[in-house]
Parts: sequence; C-alpha cells; structure tokens
Amino acid sequence: MINRWFLFVVVLAVGSAIGFWAAYLEGLIAGGVLAAIAWLAVDSLYAVRFMGWLRHELGNESTATVAELIPALPGIWGLATDRVRRLLVKRDRLVKDGQSRLEEFLAAMQASPSGVVLLDAQDRIEWCNQMATQHFGFDAQRDVLQHVSNLVRAPAFKAYMASNDFSHDVVISGSASTPGRPVNLSVHIHAYGADRKLLLSRDITAVELAEAMRRDFVANVSHEIRTPLTVLSGFIETLQTLPLKAPERERYLALMAQQSQRMQTLVSDLLTLSRLEGSPQPGGNDWISTQGMLANCEQDAHALSVLVAPHGHDIVFEKGQPSTVAGVHNELYSAMSNLVTNAVRYTPDAGAIHVSWKILNDGRGEFRVKDTGPGIAPEHLPRLTERFYRIDRSRSRETGGTGLGLAIVKHVAQRHGAELHIESVLGQGSVFSMTFPAVRVRAAQAR
Ligand code: ADP
Repeated sequence: MINRWFLFVVVLAVGSAIGFWAAYLEGLIAGGVLAAIAWLAVDSLYAVRFMGWLRHELGNESTATVAELIPALPGIWGLATDRVRRLLVKRDRLVKDGQSRLEEFLAAMQASPSGVVLLDAQDRIEWCNQMATQHFGFDAQRDVLQHVSNLVRAPAFKAYMASNDFSHDVVISGSASTPGRPVNLSVHIHAYGADRKLLLSRDITAVELAEAMRRDFVANVSHEIRTPLTVLSGFIETLQTLPLKAPERERYLALMAQQSQRMQTLVSDLLTLSRLEGSPQPGGNDWISTQGMLANCEQDAHALSVLVAPHGHDIVFEKGQPSTVAGVHNELYSAMSNLVTNAVRYTPDAGAIHVSWKILNDGRGEFRVKDTGPGIAPEHLPRLTERFYRIDRSRSRETGGTGLGLAIVKHVAQRHGAELHIESVLGQGSVFSMTFPAVRVRAAQAR
C-alpha cells in the first residue's frame, strides 16, 4: 500500500514538474491534476480488467481457465489477482475431493448386492443403484423424484409405507416375477437424517427355495422312516401281546427284518448323499479299473434279478476295452450299480438289460445301461434326479428303493465331470448313460 501511495506521489510530482516546466505556477497545478486523472484512469482500467476476470472465474468451475486467463496486472491488482487465483484453486480442489468421495461412495453402493434406494422426506426417489433398478424395474434417471409408492405398486409395500413402522421387512414380488419364475424380494426401510429413508431390497427367491427344499427333505425323510417304524412297532406289539405259533412268529420276524433293512438302506443312502455334498471334488490321480467295477455290477444285477423276477432277466454286460477312470472307487461303483440295479428293479420279469462301457472316438468314456422296462414319460425326466422323486412309488418300495438312487448318481457324475443322460420311451424302455471326460479316462496299458 505504501508503494502505491509512493507511486501516486511520484506521478503527481512528475506531472507537476512537467506543468511547471511548461507554464510555471499555473502549469504546476494543471500538471498535478492531469497526472492524478491519468493515474485514476490507468488504475480504473486495471480494476475493470480485474473485475472482468473475477466475474468470469467465479462463474467457471474449471481450474484450467484460472491459470490460462489470468490477466497480467501490476501492483496491488496483481497481488489481488494472485490471492483470488489461489482461493479459486483451493475451492476447486475441495470441490473435486468432495466429488470423488461422493463418486466412491456411490460406486460402493452400486457394488452392493442389495438394491439401495434413497428417498427424500416426501418418499420420492433421490437415487437408486443398479440392483434396485433390476428388483423394482426403476429407471435410474427417469424415475428420480418419482414417488416410490407410484412405482412399487404391491399392496403389501403400500401398507408398509403407510404404516410408518419399519421395524420389520416386507416380502413382495420383484418386477421380473412371472407365475412360472417367481422372484421374491425382502424390502426393509431404514429412516435416517431429517425424514429421509434408505430402502434396501434383497432377492430371497433362492433362500426361500432352499428353505422349501429343506422343509420338503425333512418331511420326506421323516415320512420314509415313519412308515417302516410304524410297521415294526405294530409287529412288536403283536409279538408281545399274542401267543403266536412258531411259523407265524418266523414270518413276522422276517417282515420286521425287511423293514429294518429298508431303514438301514435309507440311512446309508442319506449318508452317501451328505458325504457327496460335503467332500471336495475328487482328484485325478486315483485310476479305477472299469472291468472290476463292471464285474461287481454284473454280480449285483444277477443276484437282484433272482429276487425280483421269477424268470430272471436277460442280462448282458459288454465290458469293452480294459480301461481306468480317475475318481473315487466307492462313488463310481455306487453310481454305476445304482443305474444297473434300477434297470433290474424296474424291468419286468424276463425283460432284457444291456450294460456297456466303451471309450468313444473323442476319448470320452461312456457307461450305458439299456433296459426294456416300462419307460419313463417325458414330463418326469427333468425331475428324476431330485431326492425322493419317484414315478411308481409302490414299485420303488417293493423292490427296496429309497428314491435317492438317481440323486446319488447325479452327484457322483457332477463330481467326476461326467454327464448323465436319460433317454426313455414310455412302454419301450430306458437308456441311462454317464459320459466321463477324456481327461478322466485311460485305456489300460497292455502288460
Ligand atoms: P428309487 O429308489 O425309487 O428307484 P431312484 O432315484 O433310483 O429311486 O429313481 C427315481 C425314480 O426313477 C424311480 O422311482 C423310478 O420311478 C424311476 N426310474 C429309475 N430308473 C428307472 C428305469 N430303469 N426304468 C423306469 N423307471 C426308472
């Protein structure tokens, strides 16, 4: 500031001196006045340039222009310009920091597996993430400031919003829900800030399905165990209360043994399934001989055939080229034997069963069981590997079936990377095949 006054005085002195030189005393005053006017004019020019720049910069968000358009002003105007420029740069940095934090925060909300919707005090949508657009069918841009109850029309949701009690969640159908493929959403509102609401939605279709399957499974297991238990306790009561003759006692005891055997088979199949589900994928280092497994399956088939068919079956085993499969012996044997025994159990007396193993041209290994049994209607095929799914319940029970055999086969096949194919024509018979990937199949080395 002192510099500025000093400069002003110097300009006045120079003006007055020139005036005095030109016209003595009159010139001295006129020179001083003219110098003061010139000073004021130049100073005003700087002020105008400064104000023009300031007006431009304050209305501009970009820091780049602050540096680019900065006017070169001398003295105090230059200092003021520099101070203002620094303030603007600082402001821009703060704005950018705030913006990037907001973007990170929104990106985190976008990454959330739940649907997130921010509602204002009037329950209008302020922002929603991608998952919420999928759940409710919102448009993230178009539906901003729309009232949420106008877009989510489920009566349960409207009642939930109207109740103002958000201590629990509400389950509604998602926008993509169809009668064939229902989608269920659990929606929960959390109040925050001044009358604002955070709406969270979660797709619980899979959870509900798993829960329903668990309930069905427990009910099925209980039912399967209760039936033989009821029969057993009936026999025990009879044996305890009635004086039975020896042959009758023998018959009852044989029936009791049959029922307890049935329970044992069921428990054993359940344990096999739970082991299959709980254990890690089998490695590729244990090579199991297919010949050995097929020989065991053949014995099982003949032994069972004698029991279930008075005239037996025409059973043919084509063991093919000696080979090995990488996997777990018990699992592979259990799957193959399940397919073979099913064919024996469901094929009527004197029917034909053909079992084969072969290495296909592309190196894959195919285990195939063909029977001339009753065949399976197409509508049952997709559900056949579900636990406890049976077409002919009484035939299954009569022949000692648990309804878990094909579920075990499916699990074993999956764990060994094999594909399970079922082809069947009602009244003509069925073909069950398991095709193992080439990496798990080797032709046995000739000795
Ligand atoms: P189960 O112990 O009842 O045989 P599975 O899981 O092995 O249970 O088979 C499921 C159902 O598939 C059986 O109840 C039966 O109705 C049908 N099924 C399986 N194998 C055959 C087959 N070879 N021929 C006809 N139906 C079959």
